[in-house]
Amino acid sequence: MFLRSFSYDAAPMRVRFGAGTVAELPEEVTRLGLRRVLVVCSPEQEQTGQVISRALGTHSAGVLAEARMHVPIEVAHRAGKRAVELDADGCVAVGGGSAIGLGKAVALEHGLPVVAVPTTYAGSEMTPVWGITENGRKRTGRDRRVLPASVLYDPELTVGLPVGMSMTSGFNAIAHAVEALYATDRSPIISLMAQEGARAMAEALPAVAARSGDLDARAAALYGSWLCGVCLGATTMSLHHKLCHVLGGVLDLPHAATHTVVLPHALAYNQDAAPDAIEALSRAWNAPDPARRLWDLSGRLGTPRSLGELGMAESDVGRIAEEVLRDPYVNPAPVTYEGVAELLRAAWSGEPPAPDR
Ligand code: NAD
Repeated sequence: MFLRSFSYDAAPMRVRFGAGTVAELPEEVTRLGLRRVLVVCSPEQEQTGQVISRALGTHSAGVLAEARMHVPIEVAHRAGKRAVELDADGCVAVGGGSAIGLGKAVALEHGLPVVAVPTTYAGSEMTPVWGITENGRKRTGRDRRVLPASVLYDPELTVGLPVGMSMTSGFNAIAHAVEALYATDRSPIISLMAQEGARAMAEALPAVAARSGDLDARAAALYGSWLCGVCLGATTMSLHHKLCHVLGGVLDLPHAATHTVVLPHALAYNQDAAPDAIEALSRAWNAPDPARRLWDLSGRLGTPRSLGELGMAESDVGRIAEEVLRDPYVNPAPVTYEGVAELLRAAWSGEPPAPDR
């Protein structure tokens, strides 16, 4: 076996996993030396936030249910101000990437540690990456202060995630593993996690689709999302994430569904240039053509398969390709205008992925 040179930088993270784990929040908060924490969540999940707040008892400083997609700066400032007013010394972020993103923004501005309780499979809880949107532009950065001090994965809290969102969120997680497998800064440990994360998630999603209330199926998906999230935090993402970032930013397409549609095409684009990744994914999914396997899986699970159905017009292909080319991410296969435009056209129409674009 050829072992390429690598460096591996283990992120300090603590995870508690299991059904009912959320009941251990007060103990977890005390263990971190925190007295009073502000619970942040999305408006749609205020009830969950209140349940968490009650479970925290005297450790809760209150609930701020204002998290929104891509962390608008006004919301970040409001949350920070509220935390200061309430004399909070930490935040518990309950929800998907939006709620955890808000917790991270408070950590960035005020240095308050974050305890994350993820309820989707997006993976933000495992990364030191923050994002804040101001005047329609999202700024992102890496800062160790925003990496949650502790993460509680409780599958009971994911049972309410609608099946459709669970499927696309699961594909969003798999995208992190796929791109970690061909990242220039990958390492053998991260590649193992990526292969196992991709395997676990692809196996769990049909079970969640069939029995959305089944805690074993939900636990398996959450386990997959944990591993995929670690991969996202540890490596540099490539063309797939760049495409989704641009499609989300320019056309406001939904985050997880866009990942779901684009991923088979981005993987096919890189197929010949990333043989090790293809081999790992073939092993994980017992499939000789992993890009086709992903596309078939999304069809079987009834997720969107075309950017057209997400709201993109065919005439958008050119400007999205130009925007991707303006500042492309490092990628195994050369990123050319023609190649990206052809990829986008295929993803727009919903046709199967084809390598060698
Ligand atoms: P989200 O957090 O916006 O959640 C989507 C919707 O689902 C929200 O309305 C939320 O209230 C609801 N929801 C979440 N969990 C639920 C549950 N268990 N039951 C019922 N409803 C539930 O979406 P997301 O896909 O988790 O996160 C996307 C955002 O996270 C994007 O802004 C993305 O850029 C960011 N993100 C950041 C990182 C990072 O490392 N910084 C990583 C991944 C995603």
